[in-house]
Amino acid sequence: MEKTIFHRILGRELPADIVYEDEQVMAFKDINPKAPTHILFIPKEYIASITDLTPKNAHIPGMLILKAKEFATANKIDGYKLVFHVGRGGGQEVFYLHLHFLSQERLPKGVGDTA
Ligand code: AMP
Repeated sequence: MEKTIFHRILGRELPADIVYEDEQVMAFKDINPKAPTHILFIPKEYIASITDLTPKNAHIPGMLILKAKEFATANKIDGYKLVFHVGRGGGQEVFYLHLHFLSQERLPKGVGDTA
């Protein structure tokens, strides 16, 4: 399997503005933001797309949603959209599962800013 760009961000081979990380997920700013706050949440356990969900890995999208909700609360963001693009026809370009977190509200200063 070829590494995706998100494998390389996770492996820190590529720079990203990381705003959150724990044992299960990493979250970083989208390089081409479609809203004042646009974050991507990825699982550390690789799955390419929602189309690859099975009963065994079906917990992963819920876990990403939970982390996004906790991130919003921690950063005092009240309103946001959560989106999965599914397959090329659904606008998915990077085949490493990711949850788009989009908000018209801005992150507190300093969160994810590179020095
Ligand atoms: P999707 O269309 O759902 O596959 O979304 C892929 C997203 O990844 C797009 O919104 C891109 O702007 C974003 N993206 C691509 N390369 C990078 C990168 N190096 N760092 C951060 N975001 C990226």
